[in-house]
Amino acid sequence: MPASDYDLNPIRRRGLMLVLSSPSGAGKSTISRAILEDDDNISMSVSVTTRPKRPGEVDGVHYHFIDKTEFDLMVNRGQLLEHAKVFDNYYGTPRAAVMDALVQGKDVLFDIDWQGTQQLAESALDDLVRVFILPPSSHELERRLNTRAQDSQDVIAGRMAKAADEMSHYPEYDWVIVNTDLDQSISDVRAILRSERLKRKRQVGLGEFVKGLRAG
Ligand code: 5GP
Repeated sequence: MPASDYDLNPIRRRGLMLVLSSPSGAGKSTISRAILEDDDNISMSVSVTTRPKRPGEVDGVHYHFIDKTEFDLMVNRGQLLEHAKVFDNYYGTPRAAVMDALVQGKDVLFDIDWQGTQQLAESALDDLVRVFILPPSSHELERRLNTRAQDSQDVIAGRMAKAADEMSHYPEYDWVIVNTDLDQSISDVRAILRSERLKRKRQVGLGEFVKGLRAG
């Protein structure tokens, strides 16, 4: 008789939702990329957005680029797990892909803002791991925003002005990383992920497993 999945892997784990938030320019995208590159058990949640595609962005990879009519339709149908207006555009997390991943024990990485994180906390607090990434200083944040050539000066000024607002939400997160050294920050996020994966509340089938051990 072939061994069932249960015999092979008695302790199963529900996937977790790893949220990385930060003001633009704090290094979040680079950290996300590094986490995704060397870990097969976590994948990025691809958001829908009404903002125009930037050079180099690929539809379906970086975002699903949709118009406002389609966005409203998704909201009304309950197809978004959370959604928010960020700057002048709308963003949202498609529900189905995330739910499928979690039940399969796969983790999902979210690059969403504090508004989306608050909404996820209302509905999925047990699955949620919230990490806030801060820049080392406002001077460094401004320098980093200015080296991102993709955005106009107006957009940069707007983001600088909003960065302070965004950062005021750090107390709503479980973990905070000051991104002074990129390699250290990446390794800190990996450590958080590893610890969170080992939490007892995420292990399904632990009771039966221990009972089986005691029974010999
Ligand atoms: P960008 O336009 O630079 O890609 O993203 C702007 C902001 O929108 C970032 O702070 C990013 O975290 C946030 N964002 C991206 N996707 C989502 C989403 O699905 N939901 C929410 N709430 N925020 C998002």
